[in-house]
Amino acid sequence: MNDKVLSYFDISADDPRWLDWKWQYANRITDVESLAKIINLSEKDQQGIASCLQSFRMAITPYFASLLDPDDPFCPLRRQSVPSLDELAFHAAEGEDPLNEEGDSPSEDLVHRYPDRALFLVTRHCAMYCRFCVRKRLVGEEDFVINTMEKNKALSYIADTPAIRDVLISGGDPLTIVDDELEDIVSSLRSIPHVEIIRIGTRVPAVLPMRITADLLNMLKKYQPIWVNVHFNHPRELTELAVKACTDIVDAGIPVGNQSVLLKGVNDDPTVMRELLYKLVKARVRPYYLYQCDLIRGTSHFRTKVQTGIDIIHALTGNITGFAVPKYVIDAPQGGGKVPINPEYVVSMDDERVVMTNYEGKTYTYPQTP
Ligand SMILES: *Cc1c(COP(=O)(O)O)cnc(C)c1O
Ligand code: SF4
Repeated sequence: MNDKVLSYFDISADDPRWLDWKWQYANRITDVESLAKIINLSEKDQQGIASCLQSFRMAITPYFASLLDPDDPFCPLRRQSVPSLDELAFHAAEGEDPLNEEGDSPSEDLVHRYPDRALFLVTRHCAMYCRFCVRKRLVGEEDFVINTMEKNKALSYIADTPAIRDVLISGGDPLTIVDDELEDIVSSLRSIPHVEIIRIGTRVPAVLPMRITADLLNMLKKYQPIWVNVHFNHPRELTELAVKACTDIVDAGIPVGNQSVLLKGVNDDPTVMRELLYKLVKARVRPYYLYQCDLIRGTSHFRTKVQTGIDIIHALTGNITGFAVPKYVIDAPQGGGKVPINPEYVVSMDDERVVMTNYEGKTYTYPQTP
């Protein structure tokens, strides 16, 4: 742990305030002066961050800040949370809404792209603003928590659309909302008979694990079946507190999946990825998706070639527990949805035989006799 963070806040790691998510949220690091007191930044770094902050904003919880290596400019956690001048390099293929979420929205807060499920964006607030995400938003843009009118509009659409059997509550991060307001949303969804499952997508266990309280879990338990999807990108994010947050959710009877984003300089390496996946499975979290980094403005320094992702999946498949390997997907631009990208194992296939290679690269033939 980076002790400079504790001394900056004049607090100890077992202080009840440090373990209180509202304190953590209220004390997020949002300016370069505070940041410079907890990690070592050269004058040039500070200027770069300051100019980036004129376009994009920053927020880092004290908890996450305490995990940053104060001396390593290539620290994978720093890379995800601290702005860099690279964000100001715009590329023509990048946009503000590359997935065309707005085009698929019956209301501003609901994305209904797939036949049987919908994405319900209940807030634009996050505990931390990840540098590779569209939610780091341009300075001056307003964040909002859904208002009652918009919420009712989205709920009516879901209630009037019997094909929707799965609602994914997302954002922003829905667990930045206080329990009562979240309960209001979850219970309204649960009262719609055709909504069979409710999912919550959150990065809170990685960036604000103290948010996973007994009160929150006791509330959610009332509205089963609920599934939670968390978001870890690097093995160092799985601290004792983060692991406890995940296992507490599982102990509440809620299955937990993980999605990661493939990020250059963070996890674009089979060894790092394997350690992340092992740690997730140990925390009883099932790896779900590995996303190719979306074409969001100012994220080119994070984007790998697709071949890198394919190579990582190939290196993992067969070599680690089958269910520890996530599905590698590209969220297709213009709202095409998630497309699975797989290494190729079939060499040739006709009516008589399938020739294939296994995980070790050896060739086998499967005869297709009736
Ligand atoms: C990812 C996503 C979902 C959920 O997809 P699953 O593959 O079922 O996890 C639903 N709606 C939208 C718009 C999405 O992007
Ligand atoms: S918590 Fe999720 S939605 Fe929020 S900035 Fe990070 S990746 Fe984006």
